[in-house]
Amino acid sequence: MRLLLIGAPGAGKGTQAVRIAEHFGIPHISSGDLLRRHIAEETSIGRSVRDTMRRGDLVSDGIVMDVLRKPVEAAARNGGYVLDGFPRTVEQAEVAYLVARDIGASVQVALFLDVPREELIRRLVARGQESGRTDDTEDVIKHRLEVYEEHTMPLLDYYQRRERLVTVNGSRPMDEVTWSVIVQLQKVRREFAG
Ligand code: ADP
Repeated sequence: MRLLLIGAPGAGKGTQAVRIAEHFGIPHISSGDLLRRHIAEETSIGRSVRDTMRRGDLVSDGIVMDVLRKPVEAAARNGGYVLDGFPRTVEQAEVAYLVARDIGASVQVALFLDVPREELIRRLVARGQESGRTDDTEDVIKHRLEVYEEHTMPLLDYYQRRERLVTVNGSRPMDEVTWSVIVQLQKVRREFAG
């Protein structure tokens, strides 16, 4: 299954992505994690994205595609993937589609984790106190939510029109969310099979 997650910062994409990946036996590929690894390893990509990420702005499409291309292609050949953090704009979705289509790697399901804004802010402020992530401070959190609303939310309409969108209420306890995600995905998978 080739799946991507859409959700605001704090919606629980990372947590659910890991669990979905484990359940279906496919890799979890997180654009944010891959970029943070470049920063930690001080690669040239890492140096070029560090300040952008610290501000909570989007890294350029070229760099993100560059970082993701190999792992996504390899996973697609091998049973599928759970993509987390990409695409983040309609432009990224369009380019990714063109690249992936020819090799049979394009996305089958876009899973939206729906969480109200007040709950997101509550979670993010709490996470910022624990995680030490440099983009989890209150000002940057607000900015990341604005970036999400402006650039990423239009993806919901994009995937809805393409009949790929599955929405799950992400404001319930983590285990309940995982359970309903898996139930929904099993339904979708049966549709692919049938
Ligand atoms: P969150 O969704 O909680 O903000 P992520 O780990 O997904 O966290 O992303 C952290 C940062 O990494 C983003 O604010 C952005 O700077 C960069 N990033 C990750 N994925 C992308 C992407 N697809 N396009 C552009 N920038 C990205």
